[in-house]
Amino acid sequence: MTENIYDLVIVGGGVSGLTAAIYSARYKLKTIVFTDSFGGTTGSAHKICNYPGFKEISGMDLMLNLTNQVKSLDVDINFEKIIDIFKKDDFFIINTDVKTVKSKKVLLAIGKKKRHLGIENEDKFLGNGIHYCATCDGSFYKDKVVGVIGGSDAAVTSALLLSDIARKVYLIYRKDKLKAEPMWIESLNSHKNIAVIYNTEIVNLIGEDKLKQVKLNNGDLLDLDGLFIEIGSIPNTELIDKLSLNMNDSGEIIVDKEQRTNIFGIFASGDATNITELKQIVTAISQGAIAAYFVYKDIKSNK
Ligand SMILES: Cc1cc2nc3c(=O)[nH]c(=O)nc-3n(C[C@H](O)[C@H](O)[C@H](O)COP(=O)(O)OP(=O)(O)OC[C@H]3O[C@@H](n4cnc5c(N)ncnc54)[C@H](O)[C@@H]3O)c2cc1C
Repeated sequence: MTENIYDLVIVGGGVSGLTAAIYSARYKLKTIVFTDSFGGTTGSAHKICNYPGFKEISGMDLMLNLTNQVKSLDVDINFEKIIDIFKKDDFFIINTDVKTVKSKKVLLAIGKKKRHLGIENEDKFLGNGIHYCATCDGSFYKDKVVGVIGGSDAAVTSALLLSDIARKVYLIYRKDKLKAEPMWIESLNSHKNIAVIYNTEIVNLIGEDKLKQVKLNNGDLLDLDGLFIEIGSIPNTELIDKLSLNMNDSGEIIVDKEQRTNIFGIFASGDATNITELKQIVTAISQGAIAAYFVYKDIKSNK
């Protein structure tokens, strides 16, 4: 019986991994995608207004379109978590939580996960006042008072989304100037029900079964029905650690301009990599395409 060997196993079903899948399939490489969640980070974006060709599209719609495009090329997208990858002879052995597959090349398009505040009760109130995705959970707060913590595009766009649902939104940021795109800040300033609290951090989450109040580092108490934490992301380092891949100080996988890691045959793309500070859809998809191209070149030249 012939063993089922893939040319390319893609870990991660976000924009980067799925773009790599399109290119790889069109190069006629035997390709499979494993991902532990649908849509990746883009899937949780409320509105995307900077993706060329679409004046505005929801993250979920973009991911549905992309997924259908990948499936139309006969690439399987498996909802399984990759727990281990190692090299055996000339191949990589990839273990999911349910099965094992073998591949010539691997692409890690594993993105990043949301950073937590790391204070008491954060886990206890998860889903009961504490949230990490306004698009997913904002609708629970119709006519309520919510907070968003952070100062980036993600924090500001979450505050804007919530301002259409909640009665009042407090955007709490530890510095004196937001770092979001000027267009988003302009929009924020035009919303009367959003108040920005600068130079402030949350030090305590108060409530019994659910969040009721937060304590600020100036000692003030703020009544909140919900708090959305948007303070950035951290790399999914579990697999990277196991593989002994080179990482930078931020835990991003170090790749070269062909998206190659320090282990021959393992490529990485998208938010998980060090290649650019601009962690966006356009940069993640371009890296996915570049990775697939160099996988193809290697395989064609029997490398
Ligand atoms: C709220 C928000 C709004 C945003 N808005 C915009 C915007 O308007 N425009 C823009 O250009 N960018 C936006 N971004 C940024 C953009 O979403 C990211 O840059 C992009 O999604 C990165 O894609 P990626 O494929 O590298 O990673 P991700 O989208 O994070 O995908 C990685 C995937 O890998 C999976 N994975 C990780 N580890 C494993 C494993 N071991 N096994 C299996 N699967 C695994 C994850 O579950 C995930 O599905 C936004 C981000 C956020 C958070």
